[in-house]
Amino acid sequence: MRVVYSPLDAVALAEKNPDKQVVFFAIGFETTAPPNVMSVIQAQRLGLKNYSVLVSHVRVPPAMKAILSSPHNRVQGFLLAGHVNAVMGYHEYPPLLEEFQIPMVVTGFEPLDIVQGILTTVQLLEAGKVEIGNAYSRAVTFEGLKPAQDAIHKVFMECDRTWRGIGEIPMSGWCLRPEFDEFNAEKRFNVGDIHTKESSLCIAGQILQGLKKPHDCPAFGKECTTENPLGATMVSSEGACAAYYKYGR
Ligand code: SF4
Repeated sequence: MRVVYSPLDAVALAEKNPDKQVVFFAIGFETTAPPNVMSVIQAQRLGLKNYSVLVSHVRVPPAMKAILSSPHNRVQGFLLAGHVNAVMGYHEYPPLLEEFQIPMVVTGFEPLDIVQGILTTVQLLEAGKVEIGNAYSRAVTFEGLKPAQDAIHKVFMECDRTWRGIGEIPMSGWCLRPEFDEFNAEKRFNVGDIHTKESSLCIAGQILQGLKKPHDCPAFGKECTTENPLGATMVSSEGACAAYYKYGR
């Protein structure tokens, strides 16, 4: 197993090692999709027969819809993840705004960006306005990055995806289009039926939906730490459990 800085490094590895199969684990939200699809486009250009991708991509708008549709929903406003919107813009969100009538604010990741995003959301809530604010306008436009979106849609299509701790959300993922089957590791190695097992202790699904806090989890800081994470929200430094573990104990 190799850690690479860019998906194109995995393509270069495949090019240098024609006798080996190179599989790139293509994961993430909309943010990481453009470089991942570019690796497939590049492998196709090079005519590589030993490069494939194992795709586990997820999309934000269907996940938001699933949370807002829950009868237990407590979310009153959304900070939209600015890095996702830098690629996708925020033209996908007005239908959610219409349907669920809660404010949303595109928010960057620097400390001041977060504070600005929270302030804008609170101001919208207090004024009773249902709008999409953009507190990250230095990086995000309504339309987003069209060439990146075109590349994504050339290689990926929407598909159902299972989210750790939540379950399957319809059309919340991206998968390779059939015309790129030769680069699909699931088809090349027939591993599509392998399913992950979730820890029975983990309540990450409830945390992701805003129903519980990380310290409500009996495993928090005991069986589950950033060194030994049991759930998705403890893995990434952006995850709620990891943030509580690092800053909130
Ligand atoms: S503390 Fe760990 S086990 Fe508990 S909800 Fe968070 S990720 Fe899951």
